[in-house]
Amino acid sequence: MIPESAVQKFRESLRGQSFCPGEQGYDAVRTVPNAMIDRRPAIIARCVGAADVIACVRFAREHDVLVSVRGGGHSVAGKSVCDGGLMIDLSAMKGIRVDPVRRTVRAEAGLKLAEFDRETQAFGLATTLGLVPNTGISGLTLGGGFGNLMAKHGLALDNLIGVDVVTADGGLLTANASENEDLFWGIRGSSGNLGIVTSLEYRLHEVGPVLGGAVFFPVAKTKDALLFFREFAETIPDELVIQAGAFTTPDGVQVFGVAACYCGSSLSEGEKVLTPLRKFDSPIADIIGVMSYLQVQSMFEPFFPPGRYTYVKSNFVRALNDEAIQAMAEYAGKSPSPYTFAPFIEHWHGAATRVGVTDTAFAHRHYSYNFMAWSSWDGPSDSEKNIQWTRECWEAMHPFLATGSYVNYVSDEGDAFARAAYGPNYDRLVALKDRYDPTNFFRMNHNIKPSLAAPAATSA
Ligand SMILES: Cc1cc2nc3c(=O)[nH]c(=O)nc-3n(C[C@H](O)[C@H](O)[C@H](O)COP(=O)(O)OP(=O)(O)OC[C@H]3O[C@@H](n4cnc5c(N)ncnc54)[C@H](O)[C@@H]3O)c2cc1C
Repeated sequence: MIPESAVQKFRESLRGQSFCPGEQGYDAVRTVPNAMIDRRPAIIARCVGAADVIACVRFAREHDVLVSVRGGGHSVAGKSVCDGGLMIDLSAMKGIRVDPVRRTVRAEAGLKLAEFDRETQAFGLATTLGLVPNTGISGLTLGGGFGNLMAKHGLALDNLIGVDVVTADGGLLTANASENEDLFWGIRGSSGNLGIVTSLEYRLHEVGPVLGGAVFFPVAKTKDALLFFREFAETIPDELVIQAGAFTTPDGVQVFGVAACYCGSSLSEGEKVLTPLRKFDSPIADIIGVMSYLQVQSMFEPFFPPGRYTYVKSNFVRALNDEAIQAMAEYAGKSPSPYTFAPFIEHWHGAATRVGVTDTAFAHRHYSYNFMAWSSWDGPSDSEKNIQWTRECWEAMHPFLATGSYVNYVSDEGDAFARAAYGPNYDRLVALKDRYDPTNFFRMNHNIKPSLAAPAATSA
């Protein structure tokens, strides 16, 4: 228990707001999009700058309090919110400055994808971010960052030039290619294990308009569509990113959809590239067309409203052979929930896969596909059957999956699963953890355990 006077003094020291249980605003701030997560921090600090973040780290250290760090709050495992500790909420840190001449942007850690894209697109620029506009730039970038520009420009973290980071001792470091290079290496893939990033600098690229949208097939055609998808994926250029999966449209039709975004400068070339997809079989609908980059980036928004229960199983694919495709086809259209995207497959290729496995902490550079069973439903009474179905769908694919998984999609599956998410870079990350966070102060994440970790208290 921390003396009330110390809590009061800490709260008064912040420039941003803070919330304790029972106070107005507390419930809204502790709530994250995945309704499965219902945790109650003892204090929430809504930071407005690096000084607030430093104050939080020093307070938590002094009083031995568990911390969690919230960027956009989209971690399916709910890693941004803790029970009984201090939640360091960065979501009010929204500063952003584009340098259109150097083609760079400095962005604070609380920005969401849509906010970031809007500012950079004002100059016709963009960098790789994810597909759902409400996701936070921080968590997404620190874990990887798969998105529409990844084949042409790399993952989000491949576009990082540098970060400011508050480390476990409460100091602030700059990490980039020439300062604290080891920390910069680790930040790019270690998903918040090494410190609290307060701002991120990215490289930008000229982007838009694009050819974007999706083609939908009857769910019964999943197997044929997947066989085509695999063949098509082998031929496409870096300008095109595609994903495919079974889901239910808002008007209740079960479909197998292939989403596409072509970001090249010649849209007539894009039309040619996309022709085989648009000519394949007899689609129910084809909504591919010329659109702004902001439009393609908001395409998935209606499918992921906050407040649904969500559970995800995901791994990279070792072999997308005919048997794997058959296994996926057998589960298409069978989910107990109309909000589920499963089975779902992302095609990883191009620039993101040409970076060396050890060049950044993000190790999974040589897989062509990432498999997901992404289940969402309305309320707790449906949890058991949906979680069970998700596991069965993943089990059916298990023989074809790699052990490695994308850390940003991992639900809480225990230490071994988290370890596999860091793949062959795990030991080097442990060495960095020993150096920058030897007591495992930052452990509300898919955790990299320091070799010398001493357990710390968990409540305020
Ligand atoms: C609907 C939906 C769609 C998604 N689509 C994509 C996609 O297209 N591409 C993709 O790559 N991923 C996608 N993701 C996964 C997404 O990248 C992760 O959930 C990511 O963690 C979200 O970041 P966040 O800041 O919103 O999350 P948070 O829950 O706030 O944070 C996630 C983790 O990062 C840590 N963290 C956050 N900010 C910081 C910081 N500034 N410093 C240190 N640690 C920090 C947190 O403590 C936590 O451990 C999606 C997720 C959802 C729910």
